[in-house]
Amino acid sequence: MFHTSFILETVKEVRYNIVYMKTEVIQVDQLHINQEAIAKAGRILRAGGLVAFPTETVYGLGANALNEEAAAKIYAAKGRPSDNPLIVHIASAESLPVIAGQIDERARRLSEKFWPGPLTMIFQKTDAVPMGTTGGLGTVAVRMPANNIALGVIRAGGGFVAAPSANTSGRPSPTLASHVYEDLAGKVPLILDGGPVKIGLESTIVDLSVPVATVLRPGAISLPMLRETIGEVQMDAGLGSESGEVRPKAPGMKYRHYAPRAELMIVSGNQRAVTREIQRLCTEAHEQGKRVGVIAAEESCGDYDADCVRAVGCRADDAAVAAHLYDVLRGFDHEQVDVIYSESFADGQFGQAIMNRLLKAAGHRVIGTEEG
Ligand code: AMP
Ligand code: MG
Repeated sequence: MFHTSFILETVKEVRYNIVYMKTEVIQVDQLHINQEAIAKAGRILRAGGLVAFPTETVYGLGANALNEEAAAKIYAAKGRPSDNPLIVHIASAESLPVIAGQIDERARRLSEKFWPGPLTMIFQKTDAVPMGTTGGLGTVAVRMPANNIALGVIRAGGGFVAAPSANTSGRPSPTLASHVYEDLAGKVPLILDGGPVKIGLESTIVDLSVPVATVLRPGAISLPMLRETIGEVQMDAGLGSESGEVRPKAPGMKYRHYAPRAELMIVSGNQRAVTREIQRLCTEAHEQGKRVGVIAAEESCGDYDADCVRAVGCRADDAAVAAHLYDVLRGFDHEQVDVIYSESFADGQFGQAIMNRLLKAAGHRVIGTEEG
């Protein structure tokens, strides 16, 4: 359980340029928005500070995107590599031309259909956007989130809020305010707790600064949905390449990410073969004196003799699997397991996005089964 009373004592210690501070957590109901909390968030953002808030994808760590010093605080709080650019969040499509150039018909169609929503588009940037926000790139990533708390915070904060996931860099993205607190308590003055997020995986990123629209990160808006709206769309060649011979175009996609502390391995193939192989691996690990975790669908979670089995959702409901994945990955950090085996979840609208995150969490370690 997570309560609003989590307030850290001020620690007068300065490390890595972070001033440790009190972290206030305010619960906000999406349907009856506490305007005082939104106004408070707005004041902090306009003064160049940080606020964590919910979006429909994951919790974001916001700063004024047009203020380089404010954006720099995000990198410090997250421990994020400075070449990993930030997504700028807006509250109205009319704000787009302030920060983006060469907005074409593809962008108009996509924004009309999917904004507000889990789609980020990449454009040439205007001079309004500092290089400190784009990691030195001449392009800018932009999204309008579908969450009333997020939209309120963006408006109150001046209209342009850089907001990467509100986690320590490398850890699974936060899907609950308690995850944000776990990672950022003492480093951010305010966390708005809007309850569990709806989607649970980060937005789809599509690059429109190139002639052929290119997906740099899969998400809830799938490749067929994009193609149906604008025609030709390709996947970034660097996405599926774990060997590193083709670099992913989104700088952030090259980093190990979403990772639990224990070693994670994915077992792929048809479900019967996967279950049998995971059972065999559990036995083998036990013989070596290891504690084992398993990530499974509801349907098969009773099949394993492991120390900790976590069900991520029904196999047929890929949206539920997406929504629970990061909480399940984080949960293992509180279990003393040495190794985690995961079933595969490649089907449905979210299949590509789920497998992209799982593969990254597993450092691309996949065990194939004979029958698969
Ligand atoms: P996060 O905000 O933590 O979800 O991560 C943002 C992702 O967007 C990272 O993978 C970045 O590398 C990517 N990104 C942001 N801006 C750009 C850009 N201008 N060009 C390519 N990728 C970008
Ligand atoms: Mg992130």
